[in-house]
Amino acid sequence: MSYESKMLEQMAMPTRERVEHALLRSLLRHGGVVAEFNEGEAIVGEIADVFGLTEGQRAAVLKRVYRKENRIVESRLWHRLLFRAADTLAREKLVSRPKATFELTRKKEWMLTESGFDEALRLSDIPAAKKELLPIRSFEVQKLANSIASSPKPENYDPIEPGKRLAKREVESVLRGRGFRIAVVEAYHFKCAVCGLKIAPPDSLLWEVEAAHIVPNHAKGRDDIWNGIALCRLHHWAFDVGWFTILDNYKLQLSGGVSSLPPDEGVMGGYEFIRALADPATGISLPEREDCRPDRAAVRWHQENVFKRKHLI
Ligand SMILES: [Zn+2]
Repeated sequence: MSYESKMLEQMAMPTRERVEHALLRSLLRHGGVVAEFNEGEAIVGEIADVFGLTEGQRAAVLKRVYRKENRIVESRLWHRLLFRAADTLAREKLVSRPKATFELTRKKEWMLTESGFDEALRLSDIPAAKKELLPIRSFEVQKLANSIASSPKPENYDPIEPGKRLAKREVESVLRGRGFRIAVVEAYHFKCAVCGLKIAPPDSLLWEVEAAHIVPNHAKGRDDIWNGIALCRLHHWAFDVGWFTILDNYKLQLSGGVSSLPPDEGVMGGYEFIRALADPATGISLPEREDCRPDRAAVRWHQENVFKRKHLI
C-alpha cells in the first residue's frame, strides 16, 4: 500500500469514487463549471462539507520526498484526493481539464462534458428529459456558443433555415440551441436589450434574461447570434406577440394598439412597461461587437410577419 493510500485510510477519508460522484453533483449545482482546486477556493471547502470532513481531515498534509531533487513537497491530502478524482473524471471524458476549458472561456475551470452532464443528472436523480431546460454549460455546448458568437456572417444572410426540423430535433441541433442561448445572453451581458433588467437567482445559476429568436423557432428561425436578442421575460413576451418591433435603425416601434389599452393594463407599480416604449427615440441596447447585432433581414421579418400582421387582424 502506498504512503498516500495509507494516509487516506488512516485519516478515514472518503473513497475516490465517492469524491468523483460528489464532484459531478457539485458541477451540476454550479452550472457545469468549478474552479481549479487552489488553496482558498470555495469549492474545496464546499465538497469537504458534503462529506462532513473534520478540521483534521481538511488540514492533513501529505509529504512527498523527491530524492533526486533532494526536496520535500507538502500538499493537502484533501486537495490531492479531489484533484485525483477530477483527473479520473477527465480521463473518462466526463469533465474537461482547466487547461482545455481555458482555451474556450479564459477561465481555469473544470467543466462538464455532455457525457459528464448525463452522468451528473443520473447521480442527482434528475430525469434526462430536463437536460435541455437546465442552464448547464458543457464543453461541447461552450464550443458551439463560441463558434456562434464568432463565426463571420454570410453576405445576404437569411435568418430562416428551410430545413430546420421542429418536431423531432437531432442531438446536434439541441446542442446548438443551448449554445445559442449562451452566446446571445453573453453578447448582451445578461441584460434585457429593451429595459436593461439584469438579475440572477440567489444561487446565481440561471439569469432571468432569455435569448429570444427574432424570427421565431416555429417559423424556422436560425439559432444564430444575428437572429437573436436578449430580452427579459416580459419584453420577450411583448416582442413575440407584436407589442413592439425593432426598426432597421434599432429604434423601437410600439403597436398602435396602445391607444385602446385600458389605463390599468401594462402597468407594474408605477412603471408603464408598454407605454414606456412609445417614445420614438427608444432603442435597444446593442452588443458592443457590431458583428453580433441583429440582422436587418431578421428584424424586417419580424416587422412584416409579427408586428404588421397583428395590426391587420
Ligand atoms: Zn425587459
